[in-house]
Amino acid sequence: MACVVEVQGFCNGKNFIPKEMCVLKGKDVHCFHIKCVKNISSVGEKERKMISWAANHYHGMSWDSGNFLIDEATQKVRDLIANEPCIYTKGREKALYLANTFNKKVIDLSLFGCPSIRKKEYKTNCPHHKTFNSHCAVDSAKYLFEFLSNGHFDVDGNFKKA
Ligand SMILES: [Zn+2]
Repeated sequence: MACVVEVQGFCNGKNFIPKEMCVLKGKDVHCFHIKCVKNISSVGEKERKMISWAANHYHGMSWDSGNFLIDEATQKVRDLIANEPCIYTKGREKALYLANTFNKKVIDLSLFGCPSIRKKEYKTNCPHHKTFNSHCAVDSAKYLFEFLSNGHFDVDGNFKKA
């Protein structure tokens, strides 16, 4: 069964800082809300603006919210995906982040015509988000899993040509 790993976080064009990481295999869902421990005042002004924009307008998770440290969450995700031949996600920054962090084959579904969640269909029940219409890693993981159930990939993550 395909394993989707979705992440929401902060991206400054160079680094990706995860806030919420979700591992989903069918009905088996694990989600980690990650607390950033670095003092926000030590972050540059431009990056701070981007952080505040994402927290207020995109995923609704503030810098210091969360109940896992990044190392704990990373280890848990590493254990969950240990036996997977590959993992699926969507988006270039996320795919790079996951490949670097977990040293796994990562398939970026944005390269295979996976559509985006339409905002008007979008509402989350996930308790991590403080704003209405927030983007949630669990919801996008479910959405990607549904896309994968169309059977375009074999068990090793190779794309089957139509
Ligand atoms: Zn969420």
